[in-house]
Amino acid sequence: MSASAALESPEHLTPHDLVTYFRCPHELEILEAQRRSRIAGSPVQLRTPLGTVAARASPLSPPPLDGLEVVDGRLEIDPTDTLVYSDPAEAGLPILFATEQIRLDPPVGAGATLIDRGWGLSGRPDFVVQRPGGAIFPIEYKSTHLFRDYRGSHGRLFDTLQVIAECRLVQVAWGRRPAHGIVYYGDASGAGSREGYVRIPYSDAEERWLRQALVAIRSDVIRAPVPSERHCGGCPPNRDGLCRFAAAPYGAGRDRGEALPRPLY
Ligand code: SF4
Repeated sequence: MSASAALESPEHLTPHDLVTYFRCPHELEILEAQRRSRIAGSPVQLRTPLGTVAARASPLSPPPLDGLEVVDGRLEIDPTDTLVYSDPAEAGLPILFATEQIRLDPPVGAGATLIDRGWGLSGRPDFVVQRPGGAIFPIEYKSTHLFRDYRGSHGRLFDTLQVIAECRLVQVAWGRRPAHGIVYYGDASGAGSREGYVRIPYSDAEERWLRQALVAIRSDVIRAPVPSERHCGGCPPNRDGLCRFAAAPYGAGRDRGEALPRPLY
């Protein structure tokens, strides 16, 4: 499928969908089938063929990492910065801004979902910050600690994808392209020793990668499983007993949450 064809009638995706697909395409397929089952009121068939064998890695290539900057320590917000958007549906966000720094931009600033109809993408960054000169960028908050080997196989490279997609949504909503986005790891234990943030550039290279990633996901009609103990242990479809490829039982002691519709293999 050509890039233009895929983008004319795109399967709707969110920044979090990119993260899910990057870990395991089959997880995204099951979650999407659950969503379609809920809408249809009856089980929807998974696209993954019965004879599919597990893959060793997601087919989605990692984003460019050239300008990515990993910074130890607390994220200090400049007092001249203004918070113009915050997601009210996201519980437990840290208080990073003084009251006088908060001027949410109507209508999107009060937590509307940011939508890019052209690219079939929507989502909600945790925060969007504006600098005095008009520069704008998203911040994604994670309650965990900064991973030392950020780019490694046990790091958090997948958070990078989410922020790149949020940069695109900010660009469409405000009409200004962010130069970067930030993912903030705000584990407050240890007197700040576990905190840190990653500054992720949003240049032509990241935008090109995002466009190609959306095309690649929509073109994938197999959505093969990529089982691993790390990911299967925290995978919601595994929690709900919906994946026959799981490499590990769902993590003991986790909240089982709401049981969702069961798609069909
Ligand atoms: S249980 Fe593992 S293989 Fe199955 S969908 Fe989840 S992450 Fe993928």
